[in-house]
Amino acid sequence: MKDTILYVVVPCYNEKEVLGETSFRLKEKLVSLIDAGKISSQSRILFVNDGSKDNTWDMIKELHKDDVVFSGISLSRNRGQQNALLAGLMTAKDCADAVISMDADLQDDINAIDAMLEKYEEGFDIVYGVRSSRKTDTFFKKNTALAFYRMMNFLGTETVYNHAEYRLMTKRALEGLSEFKEVNLFLRGMVPMVGYKSTTVEYERAERFAGESKYPLKKMLALSVDGITSLSIKPIKFITTLGFVIALVSLVALIYTLVKYMMGQTIIGWSSIVISVWFLGGLQLLSIGVIGEYIGKIYKETKHRPRYIISESLL
Ligand code: UDP
Ligand code: MG
Repeated sequence: MKDTILYVVVPCYNEKEVLGETSFRLKEKLVSLIDAGKISSQSRILFVNDGSKDNTWDMIKELHKDDVVFSGISLSRNRGQQNALLAGLMTAKDCADAVISMDADLQDDINAIDAMLEKYEEGFDIVYGVRSSRKTDTFFKKNTALAFYRMMNFLGTETVYNHAEYRLMTKRALEGLSEFKEVNLFLRGMVPMVGYKSTTVEYERAERFAGESKYPLKKMLALSVDGITSLSIKPIKFITTLGFVIALVSLVALIYTLVKYMMGQTIIGWSSIVISVWFLGGLQLLSIGVIGEYIGKIYKETKHRPRYIISESLL
């Protein structure tokens, strides 16, 4: 509809190589949608500068000066994609009817915006962009991503398969999201918890347009651990079950040993003792580690630190 105000939120961390092209293509898209009467002329592209060390913010300021379709906010320092995105979404929700989030590197197909808007018109509150293939991802990324999704769902975090951060949310869905006060963010897991009617739209995931991935293996692993421990307590429950099973097994082993002893068939079981000592030691360390992860989370949550601080804004 003509009066739908659409905001496209794009987190940017050191994206000087792609920003020019991304802004050009996004503007082209928005203008064509405005001309076709599908969205209001008050629609905007909102860049979130996540404490970039290059001249990303200067470029955003330049874009805003030349054309009001571009707006931007800048965080006081690098907070990571999740927090940057949340800052953008929460800023956009006050001005927009619908907000689409996407990466800055043009991996998310801009043309899927049309399909997302159609779903919005049909009355869906959340439209998830889902990759139809991962042809362009490296073998490593593809398989680690798949293993990650499987593990997430197994461990009790409901996520949409092959969906990253490319999605449309309506104002009321975002208002729902704003009620989630947690500091440990994992938006892909939180958004489904908001509820409302949702659907998916397929798109081809392209290669990064330019520049390097801002998600090295270390950050990827950190995000997966966060994703699981922020939303699910299954790992702790799993440990309880594991402890129970092992206790049961050792009981059986005890009976077995006693019977053998009484039958006079005792063998000096050095290896079995050593193995079980190591095994149980390892298991205990692992269990303490998992519990420690959660205690760390509780520690962070109780501090109620701000999830982001906006230092400048061009709206
Ligand atoms: N990003 C961010 N802060 C960070 C890291 C990344 O805002 O600390 C942004 C980045 O600019 C991009 C998006 O998050 O728009 C996804 O990052 P990237 O494309 O590097 O991740 P990949 O596609 O390799 O998983
Ligand atoms: Mg990318």
